[in-house]
Amino acid sequence: MNEELLAQEWQALIRQYADALPILQSLAETHRVALAREFYEQMLENPGSSPYLSHEQVRTQLSSSLQRWIINVFAAQQTEQVIECIRLQQHVGKVHARIEVPVSLVLRGARQLKTHLSRLLMDSGLDDHAQHAATRLACQLIDLTMEIMSQAYSLSHDRNSRAEEAYRLFSVSQNLGTEKERQRGALLDWENQLMFALATGQQASYLPKLSDSEFGLWFRHKASHAFQGSPESTSILTYIRAIDAQLEDLRSQEHGGRSDLPIDLLRQIREQTKSIRFLLDSLFEQANDLEAGRDALTHLLNRKFLPVVMSKEVLYSRQSGHSFAVLLIDVDHFKQINDTYGHEAGDQALQQIAGLLTSNTRGGDYAFRHGGEEFLLVLVDIEPTRALQVAESLRQRIASESFRIGGQVLQLSVSIGVAVHDGHPDYQRLLRRADQALYQAKRDGRNRSVLLAS
Ligand code: GH3
Ligand code: MG
Ligand code: MG
Repeated sequence: MNEELLAQEWQALIRQYADALPILQSLAETHRVALAREFYEQMLENPGSSPYLSHEQVRTQLSSSLQRWIINVFAAQQTEQVIECIRLQQHVGKVHARIEVPVSLVLRGARQLKTHLSRLLMDSGLDDHAQHAATRLACQLIDLTMEIMSQAYSLSHDRNSRAEEAYRLFSVSQNLGTEKERQRGALLDWENQLMFALATGQQASYLPKLSDSEFGLWFRHKASHAFQGSPESTSILTYIRAIDAQLEDLRSQEHGGRSDLPIDLLRQIREQTKSIRFLLDSLFEQANDLEAGRDALTHLLNRKFLPVVMSKEVLYSRQSGHSFAVLLIDVDHFKQINDTYGHEAGDQALQQIAGLLTSNTRGGDYAFRHGGEEFLLVLVDIEPTRALQVAESLRQRIASESFRIGGQVLQLSVSIGVAVHDGHPDYQRLLRRADQALYQAKRDGRNRSVLLAS
């Protein structure tokens, strides 16, 4: 339904109970703190709410925004105000969809709010008629807001699911041939490291864990998502866990001395990695004909997949307790490069930068072409200090590179905005922070990285 029609309905309600609106306005103003407090107390009692409301920052911020919301709903009267209020409901619906708050939880909160308001009206000393009218208006307005919110929620949710579906098809198809070889190689590297560590009598606590290896990071963050639901993917994850559990056992027994090399264990792990390789080949085979969806110039991920990746990493971070970082990278004075060397040279420079970004990040990280001469990296399992170090080393790498294009050599620099996920479920906040950090890096003189704390 469009906004004008909704606004007409809204205003018809207000006209129908004209005397009741001022009563609700003053009630909301007086009791907003208690209304918000009871709303969240009730909600926090519901075990289903814990993933969305456990974060202290969210709770403190949500309480004041709920107070503002209550005041707003009863304040809107003129068409413009009403439309603005309708847009706010649509916005809230979209945010809920993005952070995947279940609709039932929101409806439960609305029910709670209606009950609380009715109780307040009963105790208000108003005559029966006025009390009824105010209760009716309060309930119907809240119902209307919920209807608008749910509509925006489901529209947005459907879009997210479609993008997710597309990503699943797509992400398995990124440079399939090379990715397969790269990951096979990474698995072999880990295996060699382990064998070497065992053979040279390293302490068990220094043995490399498969899940933290290049291969493990790539599989846990990317492949398992892209291939989710397939039996091969589930088996590989089980093997990874089993191998690490065996190493963990070894650690607790402090085996690993040269004298008692655990031959049986070695043999077992060799068999298990062989199975992983076999399953991996079969996964790649299935995905072989799904090639599509990359940015044509740079072969990096298209930014339309950013929402899917961000939602997934927010969820992953909530479950695992590890944070992740966003690096927003913008080429400095790129317009001048185009103007001086031509657009084609500019294109080639962008390709080379994209190449440097992929080859200097880990298999579990994500590299997007975010727009014209702007790139975005998602670095998984990382804390702020390290994220800034990575940004700095990428910046230096690019600044020291001689870009050889059409017989000419040119130098380039980039500015990088860094932000690390702070637990907030809405990833847009993280992107905004990275954007602000980039803006500051530009303002401070370019060719630098800036980390913006949360
Ligand atoms: P700043 O340091 O402030 O980022 O300066 P800038 O010149 O890089 O920024 P501005 O946003 O003014 O210009 C960006 C330029 O990037 C303009 C546009 O011509 C160029 N550009 C965007 N996309 C492409 C592309 O795909 N290929 C080429 N060759 N140039 C591009
Ligand atoms: Mg730019
Ligand atoms: Mg630029």
